[in-house]
Amino acid sequence: DATAFNNLKKTNIDGKGALNNKISEHILSHLNHCGIKTHFIKRINMREQLIKKAEIFPIEFIVRNISTGSLSKRLGIPEGTVLEKPLLEYCLKDDELNDPLISKEHIYTFNWAKEEEINEIDKISLRINDILTGMFRVIEIKLVDFKLEFGKSWNKDKKDTQIILADEISPDTCRLWDLKTEKKLDKDRFRNDLGNIIEGYQEVARRLGVMPVESNIKEVNFGKTTSIKFKNK
Ligand code: UDP
Repeated sequence: DATAFNNLKKTNIDGKGALNNKISEHILSHLNHCGIKTHFIKRINMREQLIKKAEIFPIEFIVRNISTGSLSKRLGIPEGTVLEKPLLEYCLKDDELNDPLISKEHIYTFNWAKEEEINEIDKISLRINDILTGMFRVIEIKLVDFKLEFGKSWNKDKKDTQIILADEISPDTCRLWDLKTEKKLDKDRFRNDLGNIIEGYQEVARRLGVMPVESNIKEVNFGKTTSIKFKNK
């Protein structure tokens, strides 16, 4: 499914789940190799992953390198302004309230996370930003902004918890612009009716080297949109 504006815009895009599964597998495996603790264990098939159970903080952690989207709208910062240093923002995960922007003080006051947990998550988020900015830079893509989710998972002896990165990282949760043309390769294509959404996701998968082999894919044209069908699992 593709959803935007808190589910007000919704459609089904054939093949998007399979592409995001591959892209997210690639990114989370890379982060694991770089020493970031994540919930990702392995991809099981085209649509499923095996992950560690975690108790998710009710917070969306947003990292921004370039101003666009809600930041530009909210504060009147011109679209495309490169930020001097990465900006971290926090939103409450609550669809009924439209995921409102919150401050660290709100987080501590309402016990959504402890101060030492947020300090640790801030550090991990900035490290992830460094790793992913470099990863996308070599394939000529600008990492504009992205959303992360974190959770607590119990150690084997069930005595201690550790903070791990959870959820997915994909063109659904990142803004990705082509380095030269600034063409959008992410969900903004869907949000803003910029045309074929799957094409952008395929381009990201292709450049990352995780696009399912050509022989397994049949492209089907439905006027403005293209879908991919996987012949083999
Ligand atoms: N984002 C997300 N899920 C959300 C809200 C935001 O993955 O529920 C991502 C979004 O794709 C973008 C970044 O977080 O990469 C910052 O989003 P922004 O606040 O600008 O969201 P907008 O309201 O403009 O979609």
